[in-house]
Amino acid sequence: MTAPYPRLFAPLDLGFTTLRNRVMMGSMHTGLEEHPDGFRRMARFFGDRAAGQAGLIVTGGFAPNAAGGLGMTATAPEDSSAGHRLITDAVHQADGKILMQVLHAGRYSRQPDAVAPSPIASRINPQVPRALEHDEILQTIEDYATCAQQAREAGYDGVEIMGSEGYLITQFISTRTNQREDDWGGSFENRIRFPIEVMRRTREVCGDDFILLYRLSVLDLVEGGLSWEETVTLAQALEEAGATMFNSGIGWHEALVPTIMHSVPRGAFTWATARLMGRVGIPIIASNRINNPDQAETLIAAGDADMVSMARPFLADADLVAKAQAGKAHEINTCIGCNQGCLDYIFKGKVCTCLVNPRACYETELEITAAPSARKIAVVGAGPGGLSYAITAAQCGHEVTIHEASDRIGGQFNMAMAIPGKEDYGETIRYWGAQVERLGINLKLNHRATAAELQAGGYDEVILATGVTPRALDLPGIDHPMVLSYIDVLQNGAAVGDRVAIIGAGGIGFDVAELLSHADGAGDPAKPDIDRWLREWGIDRDPNHDGGLMPEGPSMQSPRAITLLQRKAQSLGRGLGMTTGWAIRAGLQMKGVEMIGGVTYRKIDDDGLHITVDEEERRIAVDNIVVCAGQEERRDLYDDLKAAGMTVHLIGGADQAGELDALRAIEQGMRLAAA
Ligand code: NAP
Ligand code: SF4
Repeated sequence: MTAPYPRLFAPLDLGFTTLRNRVMMGSMHTGLEEHPDGFRRMARFFGDRAAGQAGLIVTGGFAPNAAGGLGMTATAPEDSSAGHRLITDAVHQADGKILMQVLHAGRYSRQPDAVAPSPIASRINPQVPRALEHDEILQTIEDYATCAQQAREAGYDGVEIMGSEGYLITQFISTRTNQREDDWGGSFENRIRFPIEVMRRTREVCGDDFILLYRLSVLDLVEGGLSWEETVTLAQALEEAGATMFNSGIGWHEALVPTIMHSVPRGAFTWATARLMGRVGIPIIASNRINNPDQAETLIAAGDADMVSMARPFLADADLVAKAQAGKAHEINTCIGCNQGCLDYIFKGKVCTCLVNPRACYETELEITAAPSARKIAVVGAGPGGLSYAITAAQCGHEVTIHEASDRIGGQFNMAMAIPGKEDYGETIRYWGAQVERLGINLKLNHRATAAELQAGGYDEVILATGVTPRALDLPGIDHPMVLSYIDVLQNGAAVGDRVAIIGAGGIGFDVAELLSHADGAGDPAKPDIDRWLREWGIDRDPNHDGGLMPEGPSMQSPRAITLLQRKAQSLGRGLGMTTGWAIRAGLQMKGVEMIGGVTYRKIDDDGLHITVDEEERRIAVDNIVVCAGQEERRDLYDDLKAAGMTVHLIGGADQAGELDALRAIEQGMRLAAA
């Protein structure tokens, strides 16, 4: 039998060392970098990924000096070599290799004394940085080299120098942020002097047998970004200065284009990496929205990259490489690009985790171990919470039966995967299905459990994960035939006219707006229409324009006139994820979706929806009204089971509909079962 993914799992010879395969776990800030117990937890976190056969791992960013921290104070090895040693030992014990990322934030730093090439603030950080003096620039170059040397002493196999995403190095390179008139600014040659000196000096200090990975911005996606030929010239100069490999960076953080969230098609930017192939003599790594081994194998087979970087996919599944190697790719818990457990948490100052894998970064406290004695457990409801509980309980050795009234598992994820851009939610359902089968969980579909049946079943515990029901509105005309519920639209495929009003602008109201503002429904995530998506966001695939942006900007259209409404007198979408909400809102606004807050709903009749806004009465003439006004708990069985003296637990939406959230439901299910 042919080994699965022959190109992906071929070793990569770097001359002085060899990587065991072509899958890199890319850098992610986890929040453990500054956590008091962070090094112990990172050692386990990275050690598990190395044991899961990652070919190369990169840590979160560590600043080369005090001014370079993002505002978080990740310590370079100088201050914490024993902690870093825990990480490198754990990875090496699993025969893995790990690089420390060296990141100087420049003007993205939230520290009071932020520095940059020129005193120009960014869109995402209002603080004006101080321009570095010539001597300080020389010192900063030394700091990069010293930091890399300390990383070597702490056992790292190399460093990744962060030269993309708009951090200090890119700030030197672009005229957008570098308006110096000395040797570090002005001509292109002067502007790239800083990264080249960082690379040259780091190589000099660290020696030849140390991996120097440079994260190169292959697409800036901001005005004033590099032209393609400038990018190639920079790459060639960096190779000459000592780089071992290039990783791809896509877009500055201040770019107005989404680059990693769920709506970015899989592999949307790999063409930007592919065009560097053959222009330099060292290996090149592709990045961004690569989340499965088939896609990665195809990329490498096509000669578009030598290696792939997957970052968040290793939060979702520490064993993704090992599973693919064992021919069990269908058991991989795939990253769905939601950002809810990872980036959104980081921006809230929390330790990151993963919506589909709440153990990520909590491996040391959320152990799943064999239970002292097996119990017989009934789970009612096969949505995210119920499945998470059932799978974890079965892993602990319990005998689990799931009762599900519908004909499929996945609950509300079935509606999520119907939204264009959220197709990957279907991968989680596939993962859950594979686990149910592997663990021998008894799954009863099309089966509405009764209290009598559960009492007679001899169960030690019953888990009610029965979810929610849509909130019924008390509004004159709510029974009008033009009124639909979100379930009619997302699940039952109800026909929707050209003019639509959506009552309620929570996550589901926005999802419905997203679906209705597309001409087609969800597609096949493995065959995305990348060209269309790039056109919509104004990205130039041909290397014609600096920064990769088309001068005419984004171009999006909706086939329907859509009005999205809420009662709260505030801008809509505040409850959406911090790192995804801006792009969801921007996309809908570009498609002309009208968003109105501070609304009082008065009535519905043949003329449409009647509302009051700013004390003025208004009628919205529509063909349909879709109600997305939240949900209420569904707990039909709870009282009867309690009265019968059974041990019953409520989880997920059945526990708290108001706070219904897949992240909470999955975590609650897993923690309850693990306990
Ligand atoms: P939701 O977030 O609670 O939003 C409900 C909406 O209905 C709000 O806009 C609310 O705003 C409105 N509303 C509430 N009671 C109403 C009433 N009596 N009459 C008229 N309007 C009313 O609920 P959801 O949109 O159904 O989402 C449920 C959960 O699914 C969310 O909490 C979220 O975790 C999850 N979800 C998330 C995403 C995502 O993108 N992250 C996507 C889908 C679902 P006003 O009270 O101001 O009118
Ligand atoms: Fe991926 Fe979402 Fe998990 Fe982040 S929280 S790793 S985006 S699945």
